[in-house]
Amino acid sequence: MKRVIKSVPQLDGLEPYDPKYLPAKALISANESPYDISEDIRAEIAQAIAQVPFNRYPDPLANELRDMIAQANGLSRDQVLLGNGGDELLYDLALAYGCKGRKMINVVPAFSVYALNARLTDTEVVEIPRKADMSIDEEAVLARVAQGDISYVVITSPNNPTGGAASHQFIERLLNATDALVMVDEAYGEFAEQSCLDLLKDHENLLILHTFSKAFSLAGVRLGYYLGSEAVIREFIKFRQPYSVDSVSQAIGKVVYSHRAEFMETARELAAAAKQLAAALKEMPQVEEVYHTDSNFVLFKVPRAGLVWQMLYDQGVLVRDFSRGAGTTDCLRVTAGSPEENQLFLSALENALRAR
Ligand code: PMP
Repeated sequence: MKRVIKSVPQLDGLEPYDPKYLPAKALISANESPYDISEDIRAEIAQAIAQVPFNRYPDPLANELRDMIAQANGLSRDQVLLGNGGDELLYDLALAYGCKGRKMINVVPAFSVYALNARLTDTEVVEIPRKADMSIDEEAVLARVAQGDISYVVITSPNNPTGGAASHQFIERLLNATDALVMVDEAYGEFAEQSCLDLLKDHENLLILHTFSKAFSLAGVRLGYYLGSEAVIREFIKFRQPYSVDSVSQAIGKVVYSHRAEFMETARELAAAAKQLAAALKEMPQVEEVYHTDSNFVLFKVPRAGLVWQMLYDQGVLVRDFSRGAGTTDCLRVTAGSPEENQLFLSALENALRAR
């Protein structure tokens, strides 16, 4: 057999990203919405898709959806960029601002994709660990950017997997302290009902990420967007795949975004449900720690978490096991589901802790 040459060195020993999906009664592991798109909105989507010319390429920049998002946020079209899920835009961040010889700041524990993209582009990762309560070590981040050698900083607000939001005041201080690009990942921002959007007007170095995958119930469709300065968005347009946001996704996005007030209402309910889960977890004596959440999920610490994860799964409940991750020893993350799923989770956890 003819052999193939080795791939690039960055891939040596790398494990492909694995979301660890498994079938379960309660799917509360991936921070998705438990609620699928309603029948009424589905009917509107079907009509919109019926108008899509499948033989033609999509509008590369999804300008109609771009205009809707721009208008809703008080921005110009040139300050918005759509992508094939937030994931594509995160990849483009590493391509457009990272490379060999450049450095990025990752405030850990963090969404694993940031470090993965940095590695793929040979960007050095400077890790700033969170404090024991999982809040950001703000002074450490500010001191590190002051050295002047950072190309981009990722701040996730609210953070995945830990759940808490960053302070607005800190983000403003950070933007003023550096000319590095500061990407604030607000994938869960709709649940926190806070944003650093207002800081865009005075800070060319701010870039904000949003996704349709969480509060907008569209994880299966793949739509995300950046809000930023015109100068930064222009750089991303040079790197992006021109047709990554297909016509069907654009059509779906426009319908869903026109109903955003309804989705925001559900997001509020899910954020409240996450806070209720956190309160119920705090009542359980075997649960050692419940981290503050501003999002639709809760990170908690329980002894022998790997075993507890299995005992939950055996009862039909899938949560995310972070117990082997750096900085999240013995931690599990549970997404707020429907009231039934939340109840099933709490009783399954009580059973598991009692049985041990
Ligand atoms: N940012 C964060 C913090 C996330 O948790 C996720 C999804 N897990 C994303 C971005 C990307 O989401 P998507 O690609 O589905 O838009």
